[in-house]
Amino acid sequence: MSATPASGGENRSKRVSVASPDAAARCWRRIKRIIALLEAHYGTRQFTSRGRAVDVLVETILSQNTSDTNSHRAFQALLSRLGTLEAVAAAPVDEIEAIIRFAGLSRIKSARIRSLLLRLLRENGSLDLSFLSGQELDKARRYLTSLDGVGLKTASCVLLFAFGMPAMPVDTHVYRVARRLDLIGDRVSVEAAHLELEALVAPCDRYRFHLLLIEHGRRICHPRNPRCALCMLRDICPSARLA
Ligand code: SF4
Repeated sequence: MSATPASGGENRSKRVSVASPDAAARCWRRIKRIIALLEAHYGTRQFTSRGRAVDVLVETILSQNTSDTNSHRAFQALLSRLGTLEAVAAAPVDEIEAIIRFAGLSRIKSARIRSLLLRLLRENGSLDLSFLSGQELDKARRYLTSLDGVGLKTASCVLLFAFGMPAMPVDTHVYRVARRLDLIGDRVSVEAAHLELEALVAPCDRYRFHLLLIEHGRRICHPRNPRCALCMLRDICPSARLA
């Protein structure tokens, strides 16, 4: 993260360690400023649970490489055709694949979903994952990432959106906007970015920070041609293109 806020058009400033109390305080102030500017434009974000953790888990797996609309439709199609996720676990993988085909990567997703549901039933006797909400974040995330096909992003989505635990999922929008804002370095991988951003953003701010960066990435900080001239962060963004 930048040592000092940079004005629009400046070269990227040297990154500093946040190990010192002063640097950490500057980071936290800058993050708070980013959140305040985004909230002033997009509105506040209050936590609302998206439902059972296993539902969020299956829907997040369905969302890989497709839109939220498609993954939600695929999840609803599974439930309307098979009734429950327990029934999905008992169904042949070919049948699951046929139901979710329109959501893409259906061969991989159907096998993953069935396999993890069967494992949860075998290990826990049910699909109830509420025991995770009483665990430390790292422990709960380790459990979820031990499931086949569940990476840091999916595990973080489950813990954040089902329980409001302070995990920071890093999707393509969060990753791009955080890099442009110099919150994480250019060479930091998406995986590493999860933990780097969690270290920078206060636990109580992670839910809204995540959602606000996604909104900003979709509306203004586009992958190509970011709309910097319209951006409310342009005065504190080292990547602002104002020419
Ligand atoms: S739109 Fe431009 S100024 Fe705004 S965050 Fe993205 S790169 Fe920075």
